Amino acid sequence: MKLVHTVEELQKIISLERNSGRKITFIPTMGALHEGHLSLIDLAPQDSFVVLSIFVNPTQFGKNEDFDRYPRTLEDDLAKLQLQNQVDVVFVPELEEVYPAGVPETLTPRAGAVGSVFEGVARPGHFDGMLHIVHWFFKKVQPDTAIFGAKDAQQLFLIRRLVKREFDSGIEILEGPTVREADGLALSSRNRYLSSEARLQAPSIHQELLTVEQKIANGVGLNDALAEGRLALSAIPLAKLDYLALVDKSTFQPVNSGFTGEAQLIVAVVLDGVRLIDNLNLTIQGAA
Ligand code: AMP
Repeated sequence: MKLVHTVEELQKIISLERNSGRKITFIPTMGALHEGHLSLIDLAPQDSFVVLSIFVNPTQFGKNEDFDRYPRTLEDDLAKLQLQNQVDVVFVPELEEVYPAGVPETLTPRAGAVGSVFEGVARPGHFDGMLHIVHWFFKKVQPDTAIFGAKDAQQLFLIRRLVKREFDSGIEILEGPTVREADGLALSSRNRYLSSEARLQAPSIHQELLTVEQKIANGVGLNDALAEGRLALSAIPLAKLDYLALVDKSTFQPVNSGFTGEAQLIVAVVLDGVRLIDNLNLTIQGAA
């Protein structure tokens, strides 16, 4: 496993591999690696050359967000990757490598309307920053395959759309299932901020997604199931519910009551000051 800091060195290594017929797999992360990140690496197509990036991208953090205190644990991360032994290159660019002229005032490509709902309401500009950096990495790495976690549903929707719109040659996007603690809490680099009391309450978020899923499967109407879910989530003592919604997986628009097909139940809760998101894929059947 090689640690690389510059685009120049990265591209030299990648083109050697590509010229010898290997496919390139890319996995972007912000580090503070946990089992969720490592599970994505397991999905890399066999014999592909695996590049994993670690970069805490300032343009996807809002002014009042945790960019400065976001965990940076490079030594630990490298040790975990070394142990897993499936990554060929860890790309860790400096800020100046990514933004040589400083952080641009206008970030492109834009996330548009989907970037301003749900996570985009609480985190204005987040998805523009995210898309900008993913686009930058895709241009530099030119992967055949890129792997993302299902945990960040809105992000994944926007990345699939980015590939359709901007990368004619096609990048295969693989989606890794959300890795959870034994009690159901989705792994996240931010879980370490949870107080012990908040940590005890956090699994209720996933539990409630499962309850809503069950109610819908049992024939409860979509709007009623969501309303009951919102009540239950608001009743978690340390929780401030941001949203619980059911969106059409193909458009990321909220579904109407007669919807059938592939949907995603998405949730964000601020638990004792820590923002947690989660989601569940649902297939909505028509009434029998
Ligand atoms: P991050 O470092 O938070 O930007 O995440 C890097 C990648 O890991 C993204 O594609 C995330 O969706 C994915 N990821 C984060 N948490 C999990 C998890 N619990 N299970 C699976 N993938 C995850």
